[in-house]
Amino acid sequence: MTSKALMVNAAELLRRPGTERTIATTLTTAELGLSDQRFRPDDTVTANIRLESLSDGIVVLGSVDVPWQGTCRRCLRELSEHAVCEVDELYQSVVTNPNAFEIAGDQLDLIPMVRELALLDTPTAPLCRPDCAGLCSVCGTDLNELQCSCEAPAHGSPWDVLDQLKGRLDAN
Ligand SMILES: [Zn+2]
Ligand SMILES: [Zn+2]
Repeated sequence: MTSKALMVNAAELLRRPGTERTIATTLTTAELGLSDQRFRPDDTVTANIRLESLSDGIVVLGSVDVPWQGTCRRCLRELSEHAVCEVDELYQSVVTNPNAFEIAGDQLDLIPMVRELALLDTPTAPLCRPDCAGLCSVCGTDLNELQCSCEAPAHGSPWDVLDQLKGRLDAN
């Protein structure tokens, strides 16, 4: 099944520069073609997109909300999150801007672009939070919740390294 909501009649927009068109739609991750383990096939992707025609192309702006699943790479917690992908793209019939996508025919299919953004903005090795403390490598305790009594691994603080470096520099 494919979604027609992200198909736009480009010819109509290009005929009148300055025309705006908004698309607010939902589709499933499967309809968007997201099929790896980060996505559940029936989850809902929400797209809010505005198109604006110029004399030589169509600007596509907006955001797309994509639900994803994963496992924190440090503490192994199951994650169920959303990526909000910012859309800011240019489509041209005759590509003069190196960053522009080509409009092939009269229809503009936004699905491949939205799919690419979703894949880029969804982490493959996520963290539950940037400072996740992870699991103790000795006993497996989740250090976000409990402090265990295992010996700390034998690495010093970053300051020790700096002191050593400084000592070496001073010696020269
Ligand atoms: Zn974590
Ligand atoms: Zn431990």
